[in-house]
Amino acid sequence: MIIQLKKNIDQSQKEAIVKKVNSFKYESNEVKTQKGTYLIGIGTKEFDIRQIGNMPGIADIHIVSDSYKLVSKKWKVDPTVIDLGDGVTIGHGDLAIMAGPCSIEGEEQIIETVAHLKSQGIKIMRGGVYKPRSSPYAFRGMGIDGLKLWYKHAKAAGLKIITEVMQVSQIEPMLEYVDVFQVGARNTQNFNLLDALGQVDKAVMIKRGISGTIDELLYSAEYVFSGGNEKLILCERGIRTYEKASRNTLDLNAIPILKEKTHFPVVSDPSHGIGIRRHVESMALASIMAGADGVIYETHANPAKAFSDGQQTLDFKESEQIIRKMRATHELLSSF
Ligand code: PEP
Ligand code: MN
Repeated sequence: MIIQLKKNIDQSQKEAIVKKVNSFKYESNEVKTQKGTYLIGIGTKEFDIRQIGNMPGIADIHIVSDSYKLVSKKWKVDPTVIDLGDGVTIGHGDLAIMAGPCSIEGEEQIIETVAHLKSQGIKIMRGGVYKPRSSPYAFRGMGIDGLKLWYKHAKAAGLKIITEVMQVSQIEPMLEYVDVFQVGARNTQNFNLLDALGQVDKAVMIKRGISGTIDELLYSAEYVFSGGNEKLILCERGIRTYEKASRNTLDLNAIPILKEKTHFPVVSDPSHGIGIRRHVESMALASIMAGADGVIYETHANPAKAFSDGQQTLDFKESEQIIRKMRATHELLSSF
């Protein structure tokens, strides 16, 4: 059960509601976000919510039988739009395209990528300054200095930044320079990190865990929401299966299933999903047809020289082509 409280509720009204919830043997958890205050009732007994529904101080109430609550479409039917400011939104019916290198490598690379994205009308640039690498000897990112350099150029060009945060201590120094915090596949169930991102007034995109189920991704989102942040985006980025012909198996099934289960935008990452440059386009287009609200992919002026993930990174010509085809695909789908 979820109860949204009225903004002007007074303490005695709140206490009366909690008491009533407890009287049904439901435990009550208070969640305060940027947008509102909710009481999450956890219990099993069936009862008629009209017994609570018209108590003073309640704005909305629903029984949500899913074990994740606030992220569930049973709580909120209308899609949640993530507003990054300056007219940049995700989940508004338009296709959100996020592109950029796997890793931020230096000023020249930032400048040429920014110019490429600008020329294509792309509003959100991706890139990693903290890189989770399988080998500790691989390039692990430029860190906060790289982020500041990137921010300078992105801001001047009006581009929003999405970048991965790997640990709680990085959040505070990164905050000023980031528009969307990305939680990487290796951190989907880092519950300390998710709790900490709940305290932040910035959007958070959570990637599906390498061997994570769809429900586990939704639980991770529930962590951030119940921690206080309801600016969430979910990302299918491929899972580990027995298949060796591709880096991961992009689970296209997850897109309509997630769209059905949650009101938050769902984005696809075909670059990590298949891991093979020449097939990224097919998987991007398939993701759009499956209902994705956006696509995030890797691009670099010279993929062969990229510090990481070059094998799945598009050059700018390929990037131009994929953007054109993605937009056309999205338009086609919208016309049905
Ligand atoms: C990335 O986006 O570069 C990345 C490391 O992604 P993932 O966490 O999905 O592997
Ligand atoms: Mn990558």
